[in-house]
Formats: sequence, structure tokens, C-alpha cells
Amino acid sequence: MRYSEAIRRLGIEAMKVIKVGRCRVEVAFCNLRCPYCVHLFQEHRDLSVDEIVEKLGECESVYIGGAEPTVQKKELKQLLEKLYHNGKSITLKTDGMLPDVIEELLQFVSKFVFELKAEFDDTDNLSKLTGLDRERAAKYAGNLLKSIEIARKREKKIKLWIRVIPGFVTKQSLEKALERVGKVNEIMLYQFLSNPKWDRESGEFSEFKIKKPDFEYLIKLADIAVNFAERVVLTGEKRVVLEGGGRKEKVIGEQVIK
Ligand code: SF4
Repeated sequence: MRYSEAIRRLGIEAMKVIKVGRCRVEVAFCNLRCPYCVHLFQEHRDLSVDEIVEKLGECESVYIGGAEPTVQKKELKQLLEKLYHNGKSITLKTDGMLPDVIEELLQFVSKFVFELKAEFDDTDNLSKLTGLDRERAAKYAGNLLKSIEIARKREKKIKLWIRVIPGFVTKQSLEKALERVGKVNEIMLYQFLSNPKWDRESGEFSEFKIKKPDFEYLIKLADIAVNFAERVVLTGEKRVVLEGGGRKEKVIGEQVIK
């Protein structure tokens, strides 16, 4: 009998997880099909909610991401409830596709990390980036905006995670997208394909002839991002942190941008 079957028979909820450790839980499965995703191909195992809680025993704050945690809604809720009642501060990374689930889990979460993939009305590019058909990609964009709004109304901290893929994220598209979202606490601009743990160059993307962006390109995008967040982090070949809400003078990190 499989372990998952055994614990189900005992009435214990199991979660499908890729990894648990270092105060992080990486949950398996996603409702999107991004062609560059590494997580969709990673092995996963079953762990009971109590086993996960035990592994996170010493942590004051816990990061839950994945793939997409909200697709295992029932188990995720149990996990968050237990961690919250154990006094943990919880950060939840989500694609925002399920605003109803975000609403339900809101009470347990201190900070949300939402990935912004492209401009919200750019259905063609969103469809290529998410692997969804145009109709579902448009729905995803609307749902993501709803999820962000739900988190904002309850004054949760919001971080936007942006994969900078040339042709998909430009100065103009970034500005348009951020104007729709409004001010957030933090924006992270990630240099696409610079970390094999985060994304992979798939055949489909070779077809798009997408090249790894230059780090200088991220620096140009930061000109826009600093107007929308107290803190902007550029990460890839280097890591640069900009703080000060719209001003670049206060820079923490390896490189000072003037
Ligand atoms: S990149 Fe993120 S949103 Fe896309 S399929 Fe992978 S886990 Fe899901």
C-alpha cells in the first residue's frame, strides 16, 4: 500500500510536496503550464500536515511556495491553520489564479508573493507564458488582479516577483502592469534563466528565440519599479537592492546605481 493511501486510511491529510526544509515548503502541482517551469517536472512525495509542521518546528517565519500551493486547498488550509496557531509568520507565494482560496486563507498569511508575468491585457503573451489558451490566460490575468486586491484590502504585505524575459517584459509593459496593481511593498526583478532552480530553457522558448536578458536591462526596468515599491530587488548574475520608495540614492547591495 502506498504511503499516501495508508495515511488517508488513517484519516490523516497528506500534502504532495516537492521539498520541506530551511523554513520553506515547496508544494507540488500547478494550475498553470508555463513552458519554462522547473517545478512541474520535479518529483514529489506525500507528507502529512503534522509531519510538515514538525519539520518547521524551529522556524519563526515560514515560506510556502512551489509550484502552486493553492491547488491543494484543503491540506494547505490545515497546514496554515496549524502554523499560524504555532505563532509562525507565513509568506505565501501564489500565481493568484484562485482568488476565492486567497480570501479563505487570508487570515493566516502575513505576506503574499504574486508572480506578475506580463501586462494584464496582453493575452497573447500571457497565453505563451502560462501555457494556457487565450481564454484561460485572460481569466488568469483577471483573477490575479482580484487576488492582489483581496490581499491589499486586508493590508497584507505584497511582493511582486517578475521574471524578466525580453519581449515579454518591457519598460512600457511593466509600467502598464504596475499602474494596474498600484503600490506594493517589494518588487523583485529576476533575470530569466540565470538560476536553473527557478526556470529552464525549454524547446518552446528556444523557438521564441528568447535569450537571457542582460543585467543592464533589469537596471533600466528598475527606473520604473522604484516608483511602485518601497524596496526593489534585482537578482540574477548580481543582486542589487534599492530602497527608499522612488529614490535610488539609498542602495544596499553589491552595486550602486546612480
Ligand atoms: S512557473 Fe510557477 S506558475 Fe508557472 S507552472 Fe511553474 S509553478 Fe506554476
